[in-house]
Amino acid sequence: MIKIQILATGLVHVSPFIPYNSVNAGKLKVYGFTVPKKDWVWLPVMSYLIEHPKANILVDTGWNRRISPKGEFDKNAQEIALGSRLLAKVNQGLLPEGQAIDEQLAAVGKSSTDLDYVVITHLDCDHVSGLSQVSSAKRVMVSDTEMQASGGGTLCNRTRYRDIFWKDVPLTLYQWNSDRGPFGRSYDLLGDHSVELINIPGHTEGMVAVKITNPEGKYVLLTSDGAYSSRSWKEMVLPGVSVNTEDQLKSLKWIREQSLSPNCVASLATHDPDVTPGIIEF
Ligand SMILES: [Zn+2]
Repeated sequence: MIKIQILATGLVHVSPFIPYNSVNAGKLKVYGFTVPKKDWVWLPVMSYLIEHPKANILVDTGWNRRISPKGEFDKNAQEIALGSRLLAKVNQGLLPEGQAIDEQLAAVGKSSTDLDYVVITHLDCDHVSGLSQVSSAKRVMVSDTEMQASGGGTLCNRTRYRDIFWKDVPLTLYQWNSDRGPFGRSYDLLGDHSVELINIPGHTEGMVAVKITNPEGKYVLLTSDGAYSSRSWKEMVLPGVSVNTEDQLKSLKWIREQSLSPNCVASLATHDPDVTPGIIEF
């Protein structure tokens, strides 16, 4: 039996073209510079605790308490916590009381020392900023491809990647060791293909989906930001932030095929407003 706990780790405020860019809006709209604030959307930020017979695995960490010290929206606090005014303009975070990742773990009777792995799906702030709050986990896994991409390049990469979130935490950078997924690049975390970190590039280069498979072949897919809800893969609407639209489309097609399989117990996107915190056992 595998147990997955869906944990609410805050909210993110973004342009409506970030989750769904059906009209192929340009970057100014995607990043919200030419979209009135009243049209922006608040989306949930989920993290997941996988209680597997072989290991406790946390997938992503949500926002750090530092962006919302009092559990309310705090413009100054997030400019400081994100380390970039531009990034704080493009997305704002809110972390209500009780939703920081260490608080969420405590609520289910766990602490970061119980974690064998923290898997960071990609290094965007809403997925990694809480990392320092679970830094006593045994291993923190980041794909080497994603870490390489965080080193600079385009304005988009230079803005989105802030090493303040991970520079004081020892990371395990992994190379692909298996061939699953749309690009044949994956990492078999436990050596038995029960937890595969599958490269789905497009939103970032090194992003992974996490596929958790039980002995009967049933699985849960955590899509990270490869999809924003089931609408993404049902209607094939690409998310707005993209470093490679062709790759992003190929990744989304793979998410669709995986999500429609009768073996798929659930396909969960990090920012899906229709997903509520709870437990999946399979
Ligand atoms: Zn995200």
